[in-house]
Parts: sequence; C-alpha cells; structure tokens
Amino acid sequence: MIKTLTSFRFIIIATSCIILLNCASINEPIPSTFTNIKEISPSIVIEMRYYSSDNFIGKRIDGYHNPKSFITKEAAYALNKVQLELNKKGLSLKIFDSYRPQRAVNHFIRWAKVLEDTIMKRQYYPNVKKKDLFDLGYIAERSGHSRGSTVDLTIIELINGAELDMGSSFDFFGRKSHHSYKDITNKQKENRALLKSTMEKYGFKPYSEEWWHYTLANEPFPDTYFDFPIK
Ligand SMILES: [Zn+2]
Repeated sequence: MIKTLTSFRFIIIATSCIILLNCASINEPIPSTFTNIKEISPSIVIEMRYYSSDNFIGKRIDGYHNPKSFITKEAAYALNKVQLELNKKGLSLKIFDSYRPQRAVNHFIRWAKVLEDTIMKRQYYPNVKKKDLFDLGYIAERSGHSRGSTVDLTIIELINGAELDMGSSFDFFGRKSHHSYKDITNKQKENRALLKSTMEKYGFKPYSEEWWHYTLANEPFPDTYFDFPIK
C-alpha cells in the first residue's frame, strides 16, 4: 500500500513537472528585438500558412499558437519600405511565414520521416518522392526562418486582394519555383522580377530555389536559431 502510494505520488509529481515545463515553453516571452510586423507596417496582409492546415503537412505546425507574423525589428523596417513602394503601384505584400520557431522545424522533420503521410502531396510536392525531401534540401534540420530575418511572401493587388501570378504557388516543391525556371509566361516572370527587385532594393537577398523566400542580407542574428512560440 505504501509502495503504491509512493508510486502514485511519483506519477503526480512527474506529471506536474511535465505540465510546468510545457507551460514554461509556451509562455516563453517574445524577445524585445522582435516585433509583430503589423506594428511597423499595419497594411501588410498576413496569411500564416503554418498556423492553418493549408500547408504541405496539412495540419497546424508546432509553435504557431496565433496567426501573427513576428520578425526582427530590422527586417520589419526594411519590409515596411518595400510595402510603401508597392502601395504606390496599387499593390501590397502578403506574408505566408516569417520567424519560425525551431520546434516547428522539428515538426517538419518528424513528418518527413513518416513516409506514408502524404495527404498534401498532390498540391505541394506532386513530382517529388517524400523520401527525397531531405536529400533535395526541401526539409532541413535548421531553417534560416528561425534566425528571425527571413520571410516568405508574395504581392497582391490592393483593390481586390488577388495574388499576382508567380507561376507556382507558395511552398510548391519543384523546379517550377526556382528563380531560373524558364517555362513560365512573361507576365509570371515580370511578377517574380518585381518582387525580387523591390526586395533587393531594401536589403533582402533572394533564394534561388524559392521565388517567395527572402532574407535580410544584414540580418542581426546570423548564428542564432530561436525557439520562442508565436502567440
Ligand atoms: Zn522560406
């Protein structure tokens, strides 16, 4: 009886510790070097795909407790300049992802190892075998997004919110998403070029394999991978 009671107490204590640890990790504060992008640039449209189930996994991703976009202050001020320039042309930025906690990247890795879970294959990676996602670099142990100055985004029309046609959709894993891909229309090339030239003008560098992915060239935390949750 005493032994049972002791084991019972141990279970209670262990469970409380796990709950407390979880709470601590969810309550981790947002560093003062980061900002909600809306505070700096209120008109930027936000569509956090990893908070929704409209992403390559098909479920909300770990660490996204709120559909808010956080980013370093330096990146936010630079993005605001891009936004103001696009606004003059009747256009706006729309953000799909920005700061991404390491726990979200860990979720991607866990998912990538479950080869039979392919519910979003047709939309996001129809021509890539799931087992090749690591080798081809679509999933990695770390992401520049966790450093806080990288953003995934597109351009929309201010008048109706319609996305400009970029020739492939956000997070489409394939050659069609590469900047060098030739087999798209001139209008699609022009739209990608507009995003690229405006982002570059204000200090962002492109990524050759994803037309939507940009990193602030002079990022303030080039070696730090953050893990605070988005809330
Ligand atoms: Zn990205």
